[in-house]
Order: sequence, then structure tokens, then C-alpha cells
Amino acid sequence: MHELLDRCVSQLRLARLIEALSRFGAREDGGVDRQAMGEADIAAREFLVDRAAALGCTAMLDESGNLFLRRAGVAASAAAAPARPAPSSSIDAVAPPLTGLAPAVATGSHVDSQPAGGRLDGAWGICAGLEAIAALNEAGIVTRDPIEVIVWANEEGCRFAPGSLGAQAFVEPARLPALLDARDRDGVRYGDCVAALHRRMPLPPRAPGSGLKLFIEAHIEQGPVLEQREVPIGIVSGVQGVRWLRIAAQGQAAHAGTTPLAFRRDAMRACVELMQRLYGHAEQVPQLRLTVGSIDVAPGSINTVPGDAAFTLDLRHADAAQLDACERLVGEYCSSSRHGCRMTVERLMALPTTRFDAGLQQSLRASASELGLPTLDMLSGAFHDALHVARLCPTAMLFVPSRDGLSHNPAEHTDIELLHAGTRVLAQTLLRLAGTA
Ligand SMILES: [Zn+2]
Repeated sequence: MHELLDRCVSQLRLARLIEALSRFGAREDGGVDRQAMGEADIAAREFLVDRAAALGCTAMLDESGNLFLRRAGVAASAAAAPARPAPSSSIDAVAPPLTGLAPAVATGSHVDSQPAGGRLDGAWGICAGLEAIAALNEAGIVTRDPIEVIVWANEEGCRFAPGSLGAQAFVEPARLPALLDARDRDGVRYGDCVAALHRRMPLPPRAPGSGLKLFIEAHIEQGPVLEQREVPIGIVSGVQGVRWLRIAAQGQAAHAGTTPLAFRRDAMRACVELMQRLYGHAEQVPQLRLTVGSIDVAPGSINTVPGDAAFTLDLRHADAAQLDACERLVGEYCSSSRHGCRMTVERLMALPTTRFDAGLQQSLRASASELGLPTLDMLSGAFHDALHVARLCPTAMLFVPSRDGLSHNPAEHTDIELLHAGTRVLAQTLLRLAGTA
């Protein structure tokens, strides 16, 4: 542990920064409304660029609106000359050539929010990163690698879909044109917002996929686990995989009073039987989260046998084999006629389980241990920017508890002592990974 650095991580300065950031898009109930690319989101970014400049950092902006705040390391100038290995991944193949930017030890999160969001979701990760830089400055520490705080654009996805648009575009630039074409409810195009952002904040450009050595995202848990266990620091081992399915049965509508059960082609019955099998299966598989969240029945009349029925299935588990097993169960059931109904399955979405980098998790654990802070290894139930960045470079996440597990709510809260503790772990880990000059 670097004791001088730890003494320089200031709880008061962190609290003031969180407070200052929460004024952008502040709601009367104490929450924030800072939807992506709205005036409050952009003004918050301008504030962060100023704050970073005061800390001696430079800023860059990329084509999807991600903002990069960089504290130089001694490797920054030296790395411009050496050639990098030939690109091998498809990401490198589509990306513009690297600019010779020294790869940064990066942290960060997002500042956009839900319409009735809390002041910490995303924002704490940004503030923690800037406080770590302020502490490094105060301690007079020069690092080997540059340190970056990244403000990922459009994480929430409530104004422009998909969520984590900026992080996805950075990691997979081939998708940039399609992502820039996203529109909000009023028809406003995301790409036009980014163009306006560039006019308002004329910063040096950043090539997609470039300049990152690793990424560590600090975020509030948004769930109840750490609080219930009374553990201050969560080391996130990954994000569980998700599959969304839509299952439909097509039978024949008939009179409920005159049609004997044996003569029916009851679409609802065909669906219910599958649901029962799935619930039974889920009870045998620990950690499997299986949700039937939506059912459609037609014609939807009390005295008519349903001719059509459909339901959605949200499946989550860390082990892809368990998700495969569920999908197999559904597929086998639907491969033949059930109760005289034709069954179909449509896969709406599939996201693989992401395992965060074991070495980075160990670095976070070691920092927390040296600071005397207990940790808990946990999976994230929610999606984060880190989930996408993990496809590009070694990535990990650090959680602090959320009061009552509450988030996406103005009442979202974490005690400043816990936010400070998480920031101390982040600062030590960034230094550990960036090395000293
Ligand atoms: Zn968030």
C-alpha cells in the first residue's frame, strides 16, 4: 500500500465533487434528470473537462461522444515512437490507425441518468477516478502509464437505445454508423447530438478502440447484497449471461361451453404446460433466474378457448451451459405439436456471460486487503459499460453498497464513508497497475 497516496484521498473533496456534479440536472427530490446528450449531460461534461484541466489532465472526445480525461504518465511521450504489433483482432482491423497514444490504465463510468435517477449511479465512478488523480497529484506521484477517467456516453439507454451505446461503439467501431443512427422518441438522431457536442466542445479526437491498457469501473451495487452482508467492497467477477425468448402457440379459438377438452386446440394450455416444466427445472438449478414477464392471449375472452398465446422468457445464469439447457428444454417442447397447437420459439436477445479479468480482480482484492477493508466476490445482475469494454482489454469492476439496494431512484444513497472507502481502493489499484516512474 502507498500510505502517502492513501492519506491524500480526501473524503471532503470527494463529497464536494459529487455534490457539484449532482447540480447538473438536479431534481427537487434530490435525484437527477440528466438524460444522454441533453443540456444537463453536456454541461456536466464541460464541468468535468474544466475540473480535469485544473488537475493537469488533457481531454479527448471520440465519434460516439465518449470523453477521455487523461493524466500523463512518463510512458506517454516515449510511446509515440515504438511501433505497435500488427493488428490481429477484427476490432483493430476496422479502427483507424492508432495514434501512438500510450495505453492508459483507465477507470470511469457514465454521467447520463434515468429521468428520475439518483446522484450516484455512474457519477460516483467518475468522481472516484478524478479524486484518485487529485490524490496522486497531491502525493507528487508520477506514474509510468497514463491514467484515464472515461465518461462513457449514453449508458442508460432510456433516451437512445441501446444502452452503453458509447462503450459499444468504442469497442466495435464497425457498428458506429448504425449506432449513430439511433433516434429518441422525438426523432432526434444520436449522431446529430454528437456532432453538436463536438462543435460545443472542440477537443482532440480519439480513435475507437485506441489507447487503453486496462479498465476498472467503480460503481454502486444497485442491489442489496453488500449492505445485507455488511461488506464495504464488492469485487465483481463478471456479469451473468442473459437470453430473451418469445414462445408462441397457435391453436384454434372455440366456444368454452360447447367444446370438450379432448377436441380443443388450446394455445394457453400448451404454453402453461411449458411454463410448468420450466419452473420445475429452475427449482433444480441453483442461481438460475427464470422470469415469465409477459403473456399475450388472444382473443382474450372469458368464454373463448384461446386460439393464440405467447409469453416471454428472461433467463439469466453465469454458466452458459445452464442457459443452453433451458433453451434445449424449450426447443424440445416446441419441436412437436402440443395440445393440437403449433409451437414456435424466437430468440430476442443473447448476451454471453462476461468474466472479468482475474488478475485485475486480484489487484482490487489486494488493495482492499492492505487498507483493511473486507471484500465480497460477486456477480453483477445489471449491465454496465465494463461489460462491453471487457471485449477490448482486461477489465474489472468494484462495487460499494447501495442503501436498501435502491437505484434508478432519486432516493439512491451510499454513505460518504463507503464512497470514500471505494475511492481509496480504486486509487491504490490504479497506482499498483500504472506503476511508478
Ligand atoms: Zn450505472
